[in-house]
Amino acid sequence: MFCRNCGKELTGSPEICPECGAKPMRGTSFCSNCGAPTTELTEICPKCGARVAGKVVAKAGGTWMPLTAGILDLVAGVPALIIGIALAAGLGMFGALIGGLGGIPGLGAIMGAIAVPMIIFAIIAIVGGVFAIRRRIWGLALAGSICALFCAWFLGIPAIVFTIMGKKHFK
Ligand SMILES: [Zn+2]
Ligand SMILES: [Zn+2]
Repeated sequence: MFCRNCGKELTGSPEICPECGAKPMRGTSFCSNCGAPTTELTEICPKCGARVAGKVVAKAGGTWMPLTAGILDLVAGVPALIIGIALAAGLGMFGALIGGLGGIPGLGAIMGAIAVPMIIFAIIAIVGGVFAIRRRIWGLALAGSICALFCAWFLGIPAIVFTIMGKKHFK
């Protein structure tokens, strides 16, 4: 290989170039395959056709977007799931008590109407968040972010934005 910083031909692939002291793959001035001059904008060496700046690097650059969306989904979904389950459990535990006291009309129904959708949204948000972090099944990750919106809108909005912006990083 050739040092990409100074163009010196190197034996093997040393960590540090003995000629210039830089990391040989860190530079942009020379092709690592043939030593021809390149610029920082060169993707394919004009002389030998070797790829000197991979798209792999560019692809890895945006993976924080699905990751952030996934974390936001989880941050929104997990507390919502806990609250939802607590509300649903509260229904069972205190339903009889409320009934015994003459009842607060419709309280059980209201709690149920909040708890059941909350649990469903929270589960979809959590599942979608896990898929977003793994960058798999974009549609499910988006569904998770939309459900995160119903759990906590201030987390769901950026989650949706990052899911849409990070779409190309999904497999
Ligand atoms: Zn060098
Ligand atoms: Zn070359």
